[in-house]
Amino acid sequence: MKEKIFRLFAAAITMLAVASFAGRPPAEKKDPGMKALELSSALSPSIKIEPAFLPAIRSYTAVVDSTNVQSVKIDPVPFSAGSRVTINGGETVSGRPYVADLKPGENRFEISVFPAGGKNAVQYQLTIIQKDLSGQYTSERVQAGVWRLADYGGFPPNQNAYLIEGPEKAVLIDTGMGKGDLAGTVKSLTSRPVEVAVTHGHGDHAGQIGQFPASVVYMSEKDKGMLPAAVNSGNFKWVKDGDKIGLGGGRYLEVVEVPGHSAGSIMFLDRIGKTLAIGDAIGSGSYVWKFIPGTSSLSEYRDTLKKLESRLAPFDALTFLTGHHWQERTPLTGTTGKQMVTDMRILCEKIISGEITGTPNSINLGGQKMNVLTASYGLAGIWYDPENLHQSK
Ligand SMILES: [Zn+2]
Repeated sequence: MKEKIFRLFAAAITMLAVASFAGRPPAEKKDPGMKALELSSALSPSIKIEPAFLPAIRSYTAVVDSTNVQSVKIDPVPFSAGSRVTINGGETVSGRPYVADLKPGENRFEISVFPAGGKNAVQYQLTIIQKDLSGQYTSERVQAGVWRLADYGGFPPNQNAYLIEGPEKAVLIDTGMGKGDLAGTVKSLTSRPVEVAVTHGHGDHAGQIGQFPASVVYMSEKDKGMLPAAVNSGNFKWVKDGDKIGLGGGRYLEVVEVPGHSAGSIMFLDRIGKTLAIGDAIGSGSYVWKFIPGTSSLSEYRDTLKKLESRLAPFDALTFLTGHHWQERTPLTGTTGKQMVTDMRILCEKIISGEITGTPNSINLGGQKMNVLTASYGLAGIWYDPENLHQSK
């Protein structure tokens, strides 16, 4: 009996609620369209759209590089979870990005967001222009007299070179693998004579050395074998730990050897400008590739990092100039860069002691499949060869 009364009571409340809802003017509707539109590719975590997304703007454009981006992931996020979204008429699955293959030039996408149960969609246009950006360089000022240069029009994945201008000389750190006029870009930024310093011999850091035949090139002789065959090393100066590359007026770049990523990986420390150009020696803030044959063991790498930590200890702040800036998860400025070095050393210790075991991953290195492990700790991440913990191979 009690239950029956309760049911009647509940039904009455429901009816009352329906009646009061019907009597009121309809509540103001939220925009039933999108609250976000994300664009990415397998290698580019975030592709910029123009203008920046705003729910009221219905038309967007993005430019991607044809060398690295053959398809994109389009991720429309509707306001309401019940909305149905189509792209060029095809249904999308909520939470799963729509993968679109691109052709050169303009690729148009019509994104329609249908309200739950409704037929009138909110329409958005997205135009993705795929073109060859390999000849374009961009530059941005890091601090007075220090520029970050990016190849591929700055489109990730790309490589960064740095130009450091001193009172008498400028030094270009790394030369990237873009196909355009890097020397011309450098000339447009400084009128000082330019020398070149290379962090290591990998093609994405030393690729365009040939554009500077009249400049002295500083690098470690240990990576000499990686240079393109056409490069004439007559203008090279092989440097070692502690060597100084003068910029004039008592300012210089100090060579810091940090082997591991490659046998000849070096960093360049500017004590006055408080910058450290790190190349790939400890990665760029996401992970370091520490599995390439012919490099040091993980134990040796840990010892190298220990030395680096004490060398950097006196600095209250240091800006790390990374080889692939787009991989920085947190800006490696202030004391964050130093923290990453410490975290990397601790990570190596934990891997060596067995406290951390990485997750299996495989990588294709020049056509050769390698089984590596990946692990992370704090700000540091590493891809390593489990058979190379104590003995270099
Ligand atoms: Zn490298």
